[in-house]
Amino acid sequence: MGLMNRIRGFFRQHTRSSIPVDVPSLDEINTIAYIIDHTSWAQGADSYELETSEYQYYQNVLEHVRSSLDMHIVYRDNGWAAVSDELQRINPDVVVEWHFNSFNGSAQGYEALTLDGRPSVLSDIFLDTMRNEFPDRVERGVKYPHRGKYNLHIASGATPHCVLVEPFFGDNTNDVIYPSDMIRFIRLFTENLRKHRG
Ligand SMILES: [Zn+2]
Repeated sequence: MGLMNRIRGFFRQHTRSSIPVDVPSLDEINTIAYIIDHTSWAQGADSYELETSEYQYYQNVLEHVRSSLDMHIVYRDNGWAAVSDELQRINPDVVVEWHFNSFNGSAQGYEALTLDGRPSVLSDIFLDTMRNEFPDRVERGVKYPHRGKYNLHIASGATPHCVLVEPFFGDNTNDVIYPSDMIRFIRLFTENLRKHRG
């Protein structure tokens, strides 16, 4: 291991351990907020296979299940300050921010980003539901949120129980999840959230 890697490893460990661990346990999940990141003018990654952007994809699938699942959909179209205000008003037990990945066309799998890069109740429920529903797919586990750090910090202002999920790679034809399957997944995932008892 090179010196730079050792320095990076040291820095990462100590950055992580500086995050407070007195997160209250999650007894029951009643109020759920789902964030659609990206905006109508900056729609995130595009998927050629799905013929859609991250923004349009999650708008489509989440609006489809909104009334039957009794959850809040929070858009970022008015900026992060508005998201923060809306989350304060909703006062959710959990916040989940929905994305899909894009890399080199062949990367695959699903992952969850948590504030400190460690597994949480939310990342467990997400990964368990993915594993059950899509058993042939690659589980990439829990990641430290280099990219989504800012987003998770905003979400954590409303509740420490927040996660950013990347269920697939939109630029990999073999890894995409079509909207009908994602709708089914979101129903199951939401049911599993509601079944949770701390
Ligand atoms: Zn994204």
